[in-house]
Amino acid sequence: MFPNRVVNKTGRQRSGILYLVAFLLLTGAGCSQANTNQATNPEQSPSQTGKTKVVTTFLPMYIFTKAVTGDAADVEILVPPGTEVHEYQATPNNVKAIATANVLVKNGLGLEQFLENTVKNAQNPKLAQIDASINIKPLNEISPVEKTAKEQEHEHAEGNPHVWLDPVLAKQQVINIRDGLIAADPANKATYEANSANYIKQLETLNNEFEQTLKKTPNCTFVTFHDAYPYLAQRYKLKQLAVVEIPEDQLTPADVQNAVNAVKKYKVKALFSEPGVDNKLLISLSKDLNLTLRTLDSLETGKTDPQYYFQAMKANLQTLETACK
Ligand SMILES: [Zn+2]
Repeated sequence: MFPNRVVNKTGRQRSGILYLVAFLLLTGAGCSQANTNQATNPEQSPSQTGKTKVVTTFLPMYIFTKAVTGDAADVEILVPPGTEVHEYQATPNNVKAIATANVLVKNGLGLEQFLENTVKNAQNPKLAQIDASINIKPLNEISPVEKTAKEQEHEHAEGNPHVWLDPVLAKQQVINIRDGLIAADPANKATYEANSANYIKQLETLNNEFEQTLKKTPNCTFVTFHDAYPYLAQRYKLKQLAVVEIPEDQLTPADVQNAVNAVKKYKVKALFSEPGVDNKLLISLSKDLNLTLRTLDSLETGKTDPQYYFQAMKANLQTLETACK
């Protein structure tokens, strides 16, 4: 859902549909989720360093896991930063990594569709799987209010997966990862507990900063091109929702008119793109809409340092503050 950004590792082009999303308060009604894959305690098969080998799916899972383990475990990432996770296709190296791992950490909520066959092919009966979204109630997909002819079904059967962008839910993910790691590698329990406590403290501080800052601009409505922020919007009472799907290549006058109408109808304050997206279409649309095009980071790509989460989220907060004024 990042138009024109990258051709991923398999050389496929991105799908040609953009999503224009603004947010409204969600009802909180989410589909219940079957969480059957709690981490179990596997027989340990140590990696070459003698440490527990943990494979994580994509950037936020790597960041949170690394924050919990520090140097106590070997942590790898399956989807390289800069590569799209939503439509990712696994490589033979991914299968190998899972085949030799003790633990797999995933976001869940249907995000990592590539995992199903990859885990099967890895044939690792000792693999402990941690679903970081256990005990998180998912929001259902936002329904489009403005569509173009070239509409495409956007599948999030298990609810919207972007829970890591809400600091409070991120804390729950860190707790889930911590507990799964302790179950799989009890020898490092004390380290995992100390590291996660430290990180959780930072997440709580971040949540306070978001609360204090965004309570000054209640119901601020914004538009994005990636359906990544419903949890953030709900947490801090930002406003929703108009989904406008726009063909990437050609924007008809009717498409532009639909977008303009939605922006007027919902009194949209801001228009957000993502880092690395360079789309002339978005720029010209922002001119048509008379809204500045700004950047929000969904953290699906970026630096692998656990502190990157705070850097990116604080930048997001600043952007929201400026845009919502
Ligand atoms: Zn996403």
